[in-house]
Amino acid sequence: MPSFPPDTFLVCDVVPSPNHDERKDGRAPNMILLHYTGMQTGEAALQRLTTAASKVSSHYVVFENGRIVQCVPEMRRAWHAGESFWAGETDINSCSIGIEIVNPGHEFGYSDFPLRQIAAVISLCKTINTRRGPILPERVLAHSDVAPSRKRDPGEKFPWGLLSDSDVGLWVRPAPLDLDGVTLKMGDHGEAVAQLQHALRRYGYGIEETGGFDDATRDVVTAFQRHFRTARVDGIADQSTQLTLRALVETRPAPLTASGAV
Ligand SMILES: [Zn+2]
Repeated sequence: MPSFPPDTFLVCDVVPSPNHDERKDGRAPNMILLHYTGMQTGEAALQRLTTAASKVSSHYVVFENGRIVQCVPEMRRAWHAGESFWAGETDINSCSIGIEIVNPGHEFGYSDFPLRQIAAVISLCKTINTRRGPILPERVLAHSDVAPSRKRDPGEKFPWGLLSDSDVGLWVRPAPLDLDGVTLKMGDHGEAVAQLQHALRRYGYGIEETGGFDDATRDVVTAFQRHFRTARVDGIADQSTQLTLRALVETRPAPLTASGAV
């Protein structure tokens, strides 16, 4: 594979991947999608992400010690999202920059993310913002946010609050557990379920407003909890989950118009 100049001086090594193509309509990325590698070692993950037969790749891989490797130039479409959805968009690879964060994941002994690794992820996100113009905070997302029925990464150990402290991503302090109030769960029907689905959809999640709490609703609630209310990830929309969602929607800045002006 021919090498290429890295997009940022933060990159320690360029290890080119053959797995990329044109971004649809030549669009510029307006989302950052965070993953964990979910393999036993970072080197094994890097090998997979740069091997043609795997058909997967990401723009960046961030190791536990903070080392950043670039595999695909930002202007190209890397193959990391798979079948996915966010805010009306289904070709997430075309609109995003993918960052794989080395961690064995739920399958191989999910571990805490070292602080120096998180610091590297934050720096990487900040340089993307600086170089490309700001990516909206609510478009710094987990793979599980855009593919809730298939993916769990980067998972509930990922410290979104620390990113938010550094102005990366949108996050609110979660409401406490075990508050009194209506709990919505599998099998429930009615207006309250429809309102929950509406709020999740309005935020960007791929969910239908059916009024019935079905498997897909549980998966989206679970994805929401993995990102925003990590103290209990059970797919049950308790008061804490509902209040955290409401606070998040209210905190979100006013959406930009198509022209980019407020
Ligand atoms: Zn992923």
